[in-house]
Amino acid sequence: MKIRCFHCRSLFDSNPRIKNQKYCSKKECQRARKREWQRQKLATDPDYTANQRHCQKEWHKQRPGYYRDYRRNHPESARRNRLLQKYRDTRRRPPRPLAKMDALKPASIKVPGAYYLIPMLAKMDASVQKVVLIPRC
Ligand SMILES: [Zn+2]
Repeated sequence: MKIRCFHCRSLFDSNPRIKNQKYCSKKECQRARKREWQRQKLATDPDYTANQRHCQKEWHKQRPGYYRDYRRNHPESARRNRLLQKYRDTRRRPPRPLAKMDALKPASIKVPGAYYLIPMLAKMDASVQKVVLIPRC
């Protein structure tokens, strides 16, 4: 039976041995499947979340200065991350009363000028679909 991949949207032959198959076997689609699984797991399993946090802390302990060095050696990534953090900070603020009403409208640029186009999903995802516009000022 042919089904459409949840990630790349292409049709593929489903494997009858896999229940509720949603992803094709392409490497990037399997990575997307695993990422979604982990996102769900982190949202629903406090033990898993605590274990992940513990492992991350141990990893950081063993590699002091890793991110400082990374930012120094990858200035473009550091700049991109600062912009993305700026965007994440705007999302953390309490929503304005009308914010949700126009959440699904496409972005309109009323002020001509230079903008940064920031892919919403980092390097892990090849098929980027969302971008955020942050004025360059
Ligand atoms: Zn796919």
